[in-house]
Amino acid sequence: MQIPAIEVHDVTVSYNRKPALWGIDFAVPEGKLVGIIGPNGAGKSTMIKAMMDLNKLDSGYIKLFGKDIQDVRDRVAYVPQRGSVDWDFPASVLDVVLMGRYGKKGLFKRIQKSDKEMALACLEKVNMLPYINRQISQLSGGQQQRVFIARSLAQEADLYFMDEPFAGIDATTEKTIFDLLLKMRAEGKTILVVHHDLQSAYLYFDWIILLNTQLIASGPKEEIFVPEYLQKTYGGKIDLLTKVGEMLGELQVPPREK
Ligand code: ADP
Ligand code: MG
Repeated sequence: MQIPAIEVHDVTVSYNRKPALWGIDFAVPEGKLVGIIGPNGAGKSTMIKAMMDLNKLDSGYIKLFGKDIQDVRDRVAYVPQRGSVDWDFPASVLDVVLMGRYGKKGLFKRIQKSDKEMALACLEKVNMLPYINRQISQLSGGQQQRVFIARSLAQEADLYFMDEPFAGIDATTEKTIFDLLLKMRAEGKTILVVHHDLQSAYLYFDWIILLNTQLIASGPKEEIFVPEYLQKTYGGKIDLLTKVGEMLGELQVPPREK
């Protein structure tokens, strides 16, 4: 079998001895657009941080492309959850995206014309070229989100972690970002996206990881988007499940075989 892009084995992560993730096991093949889905506090951000080696593991291990993160750092890019990072420091849009180039070059190499061209190309992909000289603090939430995504693109990674890129943005930005994710997948990138809207999750992702401190299920969306697993993840919040049931009906997804 091909080496998975991500392999998580028996991972437990705690804050102040209270587990936020408990005995997590899953693997994700290369080239998938993956949604990590679960309610607030389910450990979604913690899972991504653990994969980025930003949280200490109580147990288990995580392999990216069959290796420890330290050995593949230049192949991995991370877009943190907005609001979890203070972006109020004085830097222009272009500066922020150029930061994505440092990892490739090493901190003390000078930025060259080619890096700048690359950064501009990334900003164009997220429709942010008109804002290159704007201070990052003077952008709307959706615009900031697009700049952070452009920065991750400038890293030219193979594996992308994006924590709630669709939170608090308008429909146009959502479409821009989703179209971009599809292009990235077509280029063979593996993309993990934390997302909390179930309805759009089914449309957006090919692979779904359902999480609620423990792993509920992980796999191709058709196998995962079934009432039993969704109920386990969300504890049977009826409104939500009815809505999803209707949506699946509309999409004419065949019921799971008994
Ligand atoms: P999600 O992203 O799914 O909303 P998180 O991974 O942010 O969930 O959080 C999972 C659990 O861990 C929550 O109960 C949260 O309060 C707790 N938690 C997250 N980060 C910290 C932290 N830095 N210190 C203490 N507890 C934390
Ligand atoms: Mg989170």
